[in-house]
Amino acid sequence: MAWRCTGKTNAQLISNLRNNGIFHSDRVMTAMGAVDRANYVLHAAEAYEDSPQTIGHNATISAPHMHAYAAEHLLPYLHPGAKVLDVGSGSGYLVAVLNHLVSPEGKVVGVDHIKELVDASKLNLQKDGLGKAMDDGNVVMITGDGRKGWAEAAPYDAIHVGAAAPTVPQALIDQLASPGRMFIPVGVGMQYIEQIDKDAQGNVSRKRVMGVRYVPLTDREAQIQN
Ligand code: SAH
Repeated sequence: MAWRCTGKTNAQLISNLRNNGIFHSDRVMTAMGAVDRANYVLHAAEAYEDSPQTIGHNATISAPHMHAYAAEHLLPYLHPGAKVLDVGSGSGYLVAVLNHLVSPEGKVVGVDHIKELVDASKLNLQKDGLGKAMDDGNVVMITGDGRKGWAEAAPYDAIHVGAAAPTVPQALIDQLASPGRMFIPVGVGMQYIEQIDKDAQGNVSRKRVMGVRYVPLTDREAQIQN
């Protein structure tokens, strides 16, 4: 997968992802095409590789095909005007993609527990043309423990979690709208993406989508010690 989707430019990366059947919707493809991955990586030479890359502090920017899968799974809830929470927002890349899917009136809140990463992600988003979205409050980047969510802007139509949780944090289920959907990697060792749906009556159902390998959703101290 990785080598087949890699490109020399952002446009090439996106068209390789499309040719390999990663996109099921033009909306996700257009949104990812509007985000230049070079603005979110540490090493520009690797920007258009379909692989995860280090962003420092024991965190990685996920591979583009994983960002695409995440957006595709959440898509039914990513209508213009929707509110979205991205836990473990890291580089800010997915926040940018989500913003394009719910703009102009929607809101995306990114939460990461490493302040340096949050500060860097704000610069990345600014470079990528989302300075105004941040000024207007349509994109909000918060330093905090994402396992608690961000109650101030809840409920969220969609919640994405970018790090693997040993168990699904109850606060995130509570902050999901009715209806709403969460995309979350769960597990220690063996990890699976779970799609957690809350229906209009508030009933919660969980479904395993695929096996994955993510960095852990953990304590700040545990992450930076490693
Ligand atoms: N989607 C991001 C993924 C970054 S890696 C990207 O592609 O850039 C996972 C992120 O989760 C890291 O930035 C890490 O700092 C963050 N993280 C881990 N545990 C967390 C917690 N308890 N609260 C908030 N962020 C957390």
